[in-house]
Amino acid sequence: MREFTEKALVLRVGRFREADAWVRLLTPSRGVLTAFAFGGMKSRRRFPGCLDPLNLVLFHFNSDRRGRYLNLDEGTLLEGHPGVRGNRRNLGVAVNCLKFTEAVQVAPEGAEQTYDLLLRVLHLLEIPLASPEEIPLLFRARVGFSQGYQPHFLGCGGCGRSLEDFDNPRFFVEKGQVLCPSCVGPESLRRGLVVSHGALRALDWIMTHPPEEWPRLTVPPAVRGEFSEAVERFMAYHLGLEWDGGSFRNV
Ligand SMILES: [Zn+2]
Repeated sequence: MREFTEKALVLRVGRFREADAWVRLLTPSRGVLTAFAFGGMKSRRRFPGCLDPLNLVLFHFNSDRRGRYLNLDEGTLLEGHPGVRGNRRNLGVAVNCLKFTEAVQVAPEGAEQTYDLLLRVLHLLEIPLASPEEIPLLFRARVGFSQGYQPHFLGCGGCGRSLEDFDNPRFFVEKGQVLCPSCVGPESLRRGLVVSHGALRALDWIMTHPPEEWPRLTVPPAVRGEFSEAVERFMAYHLGLEWDGGSFRNV
């Protein structure tokens, strides 16, 4: 397709030469992509207020004759998220979520869900929250689940027993499966992550509730570490990403 118009969330903008920019975008039908805005840093008429991260913009795209490069012709700002920009804590959280989205390299298949999720998170961050710092972890978990990995957290994946009916569950990251002690073979015991019922319930809760409800989730400090480790190991295994002091790296 040589030309199309689509909504896109701006993840990152880089300058090259004096007036030109490249723009990393998340779109609902094409995932994460990069497009060039030639003259974009000078043209107030074609991109009024558009070329900044966090902006939701209706862009008109076109590609060169061989379809190798995408160019942006013009844009209309739809939502600038002023509340996020005006709150330092929320802005930090939002930037973290943008970086993760960029690092995941969201493919067209999973794009719509991730796009919807990220916009809802930004909408949530438009107002001050008691503890916004919890959100990036929850967002990462949900993006992972939306890419097609939806573990059953509330029962044993071997015998089907419900979580209430056994103690000492283990979570197996590779299979995305919880197993009870009778279903875990002794040789694989070491590889299973020790998780409490509370952490598994929190994981299930986050998988099934929309971002607007996330501020209601209180993960008890005792299970916070388990919850976080389960999410991060799941991400590392299934999405090939690890959070490493301020940026995501491929593992
Ligand atoms: Zn079992």
